[in-house]
Amino acid sequence: MSRRDLLAYLRDFGWGDVDRTVFDRPQQAAPAADPSAPDATAATLEALAAGMRDCRLCRLCAGRKQVVFGVGDPHARLMFIGEGPGADEDRRGEPFVGRAGQLLNEMIRALGLRREQVYIANVVKCRPPGNRDPEPDEAAACAPFLRRQIELVDPAVIVVLGRIAAARLLGTTAPLSSYRGRWRQWEGRDVMPTFHPAYLLRSPANKAQSWADLKQVRARLAER
Ligand code: URA
Repeated sequence: MSRRDLLAYLRDFGWGDVDRTVFDRPQQAAPAADPSAPDATAATLEALAAGMRDCRLCRLCAGRKQVVFGVGDPHARLMFIGEGPGADEDRRGEPFVGRAGQLLNEMIRALGLRREQVYIANVVKCRPPGNRDPEPDEAAACAPFLRRQIELVDPAVIVVLGRIAAARLLGTTAPLSSYRGRWRQWEGRDVMPTFHPAYLLRSPANKAQSWADLKQVRARLAER
């Protein structure tokens, strides 16, 4: 069955939101043909980060100050995945250090954890200009590195923050509101899609729903 037929077949089953990225994973994970490209199969987080320092796999390299790889406990049981670095993160070289980061820190504290006890990464490791959404090809270029980060940290639970991260990891184009707060799976790991803290800063009325999602995360971590 061709890939196209398979997508049509799945759509007949009502899986209308199955996204092509789900089927593209093996291609994305394959090492790039360019011999100077960073190695997405590195054995440690340090090696993966070091290999990416001069990454030129997508156009975002042109505007970045530095690659914002990830931060936290390299063996964390809980991992947060955001969208991409903003201006503060680009300057500091660490994800979620601006206003959205302050709120993320509060969310982590509400779980009874410290920032150093979780792992925090983004879909793209370089700042999109003007804080625009990452383009699909930029996210695809970074996908093997995010995948390897998850494999190396090996968290039991992943919280995907916002539409872009949820869409990337779960391979769906459905609106976040249709599956936020409901457990999903990614390669044997529990995934909780929830609101991005930057969105919560703009729409604080949704903090109650976000807290409901976090309580589910806290309960799942206690079980596992
Ligand atoms: N928003 C994100 O998605 N990631 C960051 O690192 C900062 C803000």
